[in-house]
Amino acid sequence: MTITDFPTTTSGIRDLTPGRQALDAAQSQLAEAVRFLGLDDGLHRMLATPRRSLTVSVPVRREDGRMEVVQGYRVQHNLTRGPAKGGIRFHPHTDLAEVTALAMWMTWKCALVGIPYGGAKGGVAVDPGTFTSRELERLTRRYANEIQPLIGPERDIPAPDVGTDEQTMAWIMDTYSVHSGYTVPGVVTGKPTLLGGSHGRSGATSRGVQIVTLAALGSAEGRTVAVQGFGKVGGPAAQFLAEAGCRVVAVSDASGAVYAPNLDVTDLRAWVADTGGVAGYPRADAISHDELLELDVDVLVPAALEGVLTEANAHRVKARLIVEGANGPTTPAADRILAAQGTTVVPDILANAGGVIVSYLEWVQNSQAYSWSADEVELKLRDLMLGAYREVTGLAADRGLTLRQAAHAIGVGRVAEAHRLRGLYP
Ligand code: NAD
Repeated sequence: MTITDFPTTTSGIRDLTPGRQALDAAQSQLAEAVRFLGLDDGLHRMLATPRRSLTVSVPVRREDGRMEVVQGYRVQHNLTRGPAKGGIRFHPHTDLAEVTALAMWMTWKCALVGIPYGGAKGGVAVDPGTFTSRELERLTRRYANEIQPLIGPERDIPAPDVGTDEQTMAWIMDTYSVHSGYTVPGVVTGKPTLLGGSHGRSGATSRGVQIVTLAALGSAEGRTVAVQGFGKVGGPAAQFLAEAGCRVVAVSDASGAVYAPNLDVTDLRAWVADTGGVAGYPRADAISHDELLELDVDVLVPAALEGVLTEANAHRVKARLIVEGANGPTTPAADRILAAQGTTVVPDILANAGGVIVSYLEWVQNSQAYSWSADEVELKLRDLMLGAYREVTGLAADRGLTLRQAAHAIGVGRVAEAHRLRGLYP
């Protein structure tokens, strides 16, 4: 088998599921980094394939007594630099390919920002909005039980992602702890502070988005911003950018998209908390999801799902700067178009690394049974984010790379070097 026909690669095939498209994108970014770094085929194969993939069937009892069975996944892409780390997603379209792509991006992200983890991701193919809280608890606990052989504070540490939150993490921690016979706070991060969660974790990804956006802009004053996705990442990101002096003009979520020359983000977040979505917000005009992506703004922050900037719309994107709060929002074809038209893209593995950085800080605090103040956490976050930002922009400028190419070259390069140093067993 040659380097071009890995079983996980689907290049050239049309009508791919979103998950296969994400995995294709991840594989093509890896292949580019491998070429840049001059790595051999064997190492490329090691890096292109996950170390472990677990598919589980999760039976869940609904409120009316019916039993449903849903598919769940946990993929550990790489373990060479430390325990596996990555979120758990509850979304109806998640599949093994998507989770594998997300796990691979986690590997490069952790290496890029210099935290001692490999990459992992988990997912359950459900729409959490259609489950009651008690059903979600049963589902989460049973899924945690099914993946228990893989996870643990020194093995693989889950965190929240799309459709999951602090409560989900509390249930996983409790399930794991009950099975262990003692309390194990470090098995998950992003849990409530009362249970050992870190100050600043809930807004950490968004704080990181703010830090790199301001670093890229120079001055924030009056710069216009559009944010796609108004959940755990997009909501606080819009808020933090507004607080820094930017003018947030448009926001979207699954319910719709709204535009106003100067949105009051706090007011909009209160509306969403009350009504469940941005649609119908009275102090803005409704626009379409597509229009939001194509607005003439200084900054576009995609913070929803993968594959939203594609070859079909990239040439209509007018934002000067794209800061990827989401994982994988830009396809490789769109990347080429954006680079050609001079759009700067701060890539996901750098832009949204604030979440895993503070997850790491949470895990360190748990291992010491100690808690840092919010200020201490933010200082460390800022330091790691800006250090990685400087490395990426420095390499990009030196070698004429896009920021994504530079970020992958650094992340993949560190993992490859760790493989070389450890050698191959047996
Ligand atoms: P979330 O579930 O809290 O929010 C997702 C948001 O996207 C919701 O507002 C939802 O309505 C919106 N959305 C869904 N479909 C949409 C569409 N077609 N158009 C516009 N909006 C749409 O999830 P999250 O935790 O905010 O994660 C968002 C992205 O950020 C994901 O790619 C995730 O992997 C990435 N990420 C999250 C974290 C984290 O700490 N939560 C860390 C790093 C990266």
